[in-house]
Amino acid sequence: MIYLDNSATSKIDSEVLNEMMPYLTENFGNSSTPYSLGKISKKAVDEARIKVASLIGANPKEIYFTSGGTESDNIAIKGVAYSLKNKGNHIITSIIEHPAVLETCKYLEKNGFSITYVPVQNDGIINISEVKRAITPSTILITIMHANSEIGTIQPIEEIGKIAKENGIYFHTDAVQSVGKIPVDVDSLNVDLLSMSSHKIHGPKGIGALYIRKGLKISPIIHGGGQEQNIRPGTENVPGIVGFGKACEIAKRDLEKNMVQMTFLRDELIKGVLQNIKESYLNGHPEKRLPNNAHFRFTGIEGESLLLRLNLKGIAVSTGSACSSKSLEPSKVLKSIGLENVDSHGSLRLSLSKDTTLKEVQQVILELVEVVEKLRNISALW
Ligand SMILES: *Cc1c(COP(=O)(O)O)cnc(C)c1O
Repeated sequence: MIYLDNSATSKIDSEVLNEMMPYLTENFGNSSTPYSLGKISKKAVDEARIKVASLIGANPKEIYFTSGGTESDNIAIKGVAYSLKNKGNHIITSIIEHPAVLETCKYLEKNGFSITYVPVQNDGIINISEVKRAITPSTILITIMHANSEIGTIQPIEEIGKIAKENGIYFHTDAVQSVGKIPVDVDSLNVDLLSMSSHKIHGPKGIGALYIRKGLKISPIIHGGGQEQNIRPGTENVPGIVGFGKACEIAKRDLEKNMVQMTFLRDELIKGVLQNIKESYLNGHPEKRLPNNAHFRFTGIEGESLLLRLNLKGIAVSTGSACSSKSLEPSKVLKSIGLENVDSHGSLRLSLSKDTTLKEVQQVILELVEVVEKLRNISALW
């Protein structure tokens, strides 16, 4: 099987699994307990926190473990909204956010908050002046993702963060897709809060983290036994945390190497597809994109049929983000970059990993050429 859907989830690293095993078996202690077994877990959680913090240039005290990217986004956005509701009720986000951000904003909209959804340009990049223009005296939070989960475009987070800072507004970024793929540093990005998820970087599922800058107080949205400095109470998922920590350590260690390798393979894939399939196009900015993301549209084709045919050949890809592919609605992201519905439906996302090989990429190009031609031969749109 050739797996090119790493933006949906990624394979757990064997090094990560090995590191987790003892905490799934003999080291099962609750890290809040005072005896030796509990202390073993506490120590493992502390060490993992250092590794996670180190990947994003944060202090370990600024890392809060959560159940993943979705929960981190919820805690960040609702947490700031609730704690600052007496100061203002306006939040700025973008129309290309992950549902974990968009749906949270929609929920807040029904509960007295006002949300501005800034658009993107046709290359999938947010225009900074739109963000500036959206600011009002009651703006309390800007939340804009670092890299888009569908088309892989990388947003000008440093600049947006600078604007937020100048205006005394908190800035959150969903960095689930960018962490571990490109350099992410909370200080140079000027962010106050940042969401991460383990399973997108070869760690286990169901674990992630929220970075909250020192001194920033947010209201907790769940209440309980006081773990994670009361921001995310509940008995720690020790094996998950250990695995996530290891995944971060590996991501940091191999970042340069993986970036170079994935960028090369991504560009081979893009070149191969665009040269060999007529009326095929790349969606999103050609350079300001994740090293592992290639997103195409093919005239006269249904992405869904393409996906199913590729599946029969043992190739796993995506027509959109996994989270929205169940619905027949054309992707909001593709609509926002100006694609007509028919072009949106003819789009395909191929997301690579550090384990993707040149041979796999060449194989996928060959299969794509063949499948696109076959589908066009029977297509009423072509
Ligand atoms: C996958 C993803 C999420 C959700 O993370 P989970 O850990 O699956 O909850 C949030 N934001 C982005 C950009 C993602 O790609």
